Amino acid sequence: MTATRVLVLNSGSSSLKYQLLDMADGSKLATGLVERIGEAASRCVHTLLAHGGSTREQSGHIADHAAALKAVAAELDADGLGLDSPELAAIGHRVVHGGLRFTAPTVVDDAVLQEIERLVPVAPLHNPANIIGIRTARELRPDLPQVAVFDTAFHTTMPESAARYAIDVETADAHRIRRYGFHGTSHAYVSRKTAALLGRTPDEVNVIVLHLGNGASASAVAGGVCVDTSMGLTPLEGLVMGTRSGDIDPAVIFHLTRVAGMSVDEIDALLNKKSGLVGLCGDNDMREIVRRMDEGDRRAELAFAIYIHRLKKYIGAYTAVLGRVDAVAFTAGVGENSAPVRAAAVAGLDGLGLAVDAGLNAVRSDKARLISPEGSRVAVAVVPTDEEREIAQQVYALVND
Ligand code: ADP
Repeated sequence: MTATRVLVLNSGSSSLKYQLLDMADGSKLATGLVERIGEAASRCVHTLLAHGGSTREQSGHIADHAAALKAVAAELDADGLGLDSPELAAIGHRVVHGGLRFTAPTVVDDAVLQEIERLVPVAPLHNPANIIGIRTARELRPDLPQVAVFDTAFHTTMPESAARYAIDVETADAHRIRRYGFHGTSHAYVSRKTAALLGRTPDEVNVIVLHLGNGASASAVAGGVCVDTSMGLTPLEGLVMGTRSGDIDPAVIFHLTRVAGMSVDEIDALLNKKSGLVGLCGDNDMREIVRRMDEGDRRAELAFAIYIHRLKKYIGAYTAVLGRVDAVAFTAGVGENSAPVRAAAVAGLDGLGLAVDAGLNAVRSDKARLISPEGSRVAVAVVPTDEEREIAQQVYALVND
């Protein structure tokens, strides 16, 4: 029997998400998540997608990521899709930070694991959970290829002019401070899909990808190669996000330390968790913000205006970086679903060749589609992202190489 299935694991700080795909036909067999790991009431939701579909939900204490992965293995086993199945070809792990060392998916051995551990100081919130996920999966199936797919990999092609911050070179190099960028798997997938939507190959088109989820980032992709992206050393830089500030003057941090007496950890929490849309208006769900705007809520209006202003700045900046833009692609929760955000982000940018057709923009669909008027100089697209599929494809290609 040929092994054609890939299990994709995405271990967050307190959650574990997974999908099982069959690469023979690209179908998704099962998906689920364990959340609130380590809390008294952890929750495990497992959905079998094959055979008509069914969902099981359980709650109870799941102590750590190792226990979570064992619970996932038991759920898959109950559906006849267990980790010991000979049809399983590999396990793919989303790893947030691959630094400069990992530019492509990599089969994990002890040396690779050590290297990912070495990157913990630059990704303290993300890499530790990813590492535990890999370790546990290796214990459960030591014979199976475990492949790490890095969020940063797609961005390693950025030129120094985009990646290097204008700070003292020795200090930057000693502490590996530079722009790494994140959401790379999504930017790679969406830029390729956008080229396909235009009936072109990725090397023929320049695309600005706007990944607007709870975390949000923009990237400039020239002929399939990333040349700039808005997130930096960490996912805090760039666009206004659900709870993160995005770009601010770094001196705000010194000011808060000196004038407000805040500690570095307090400022970290402020900028990562209590800023962005939630900090501006109390809500980070774009549906709720638009609903409040319809009722004339001033704070929601201001939050939306700031969010859109930042987006426009990045569209303009990346138009300049790319020189010629063939398409702007909206993706992730907000980008795929919020017609008001797409319309506002592009409004007034006709000078850049950008426009949105109101009728096309209003159509709800889970398919990749164009929403710009016929004959526009720059295509505007909505392209649903699928990071798990992209990871599975990269993993499967690597193990079959
Ligand atoms: P992440 O993976 O970063 O957690 P997602 O890509 O799932 O985020 O996006 C989540 C966000 O998408 C929500 O916070 C919400 O603002 C937005 N969103 C989801 N559905 C809709 C919708 N129908 N209309 C507008 N915004 C939506």
